[in-house]
Amino acid sequence: MSFICPVCATDNPKFMASQSCGHELCAVCALTQRSLQRQTKCSICKEEARCIIHASSVNVDNFRTFESKFKGVMRYDNVLKSYIHSTASIYVESLQNPPCPECTIQYPTFDELKQHIEKIHKKVYCFTCLKYKPLFKLHQKVYPFSQLPEHLTTHERCRLCSQMLYDKDAINEHYRAVHIKCELCANMSVKDSYWTDQNALIEHYREAHHVCSFSVCQLN
Ligand SMILES: [Zn+2]
Ligand SMILES: [Zn+2]
Ligand SMILES: [Zn+2]
Ligand SMILES: [Zn+2]
Ligand SMILES: [Zn+2]
Ligand SMILES: [Zn+2]
Ligand SMILES: [Zn+2]
Repeated sequence: MSFICPVCATDNPKFMASQSCGHELCAVCALTQRSLQRQTKCSICKEEARCIIHASSVNVDNFRTFESKFKGVMRYDNVLKSYIHSTASIYVESLQNPPCPECTIQYPTFDELKQHIEKIHKKVYCFTCLKYKPLFKLHQKVYPFSQLPEHLTTHERCRLCSQMLYDKDAINEHYRAVHIKCELCANMSVKDSYWTDQNALIEHYREAHHVCSFSVCQLN
């Protein structure tokens, strides 16, 4: 029996996700969506769905029957919003706490792995990718020290607060959420006139726009 994930087109993935709506995905697509993108609706039929992660060798013909039969022995993972069948538990654990990508040593925690990679292999994970890229740690890249600066140029740094953001969309979202837009500039089609806080905006008003000293005007 062959299976192709309808989302990423992976051919016969080793681990699969069976959902209560009847649609099946590869485990990575389902878990990425359910945990990293916080979406528990099925990406195919848009129905709210429960999900079981299992090895592809396990046959889940009927979701409800399987669920009621194995509910007691499957672990429900609150972060992944899924039942984890015992055949997939080691794999699921490795998504967030992978073995060393260079020498396959397994550490109890991801922090220990990061230290090991830096010390022994002279490589690092990108902090911004770890934080924002919708990938599990198992699929995140490590960069030789010398290549990290070049990689970092693919991200955006906020010119107001220096925070690193993933890309252009993320930085625009950050400007909108964290900083204050000058509506006067926006009305004159000046793009990206964002200011750190209210005081900076008032200062900008004084410098760039007419601030009327008549109190009647200031009420408007
Ligand atoms: Zn997939
Ligand atoms: Zn569905
Ligand atoms: Zn290693
Ligand atoms: Zn990065
Ligand atoms: Zn900022
Ligand atoms: Zn302005
Ligand atoms: Zn005035």
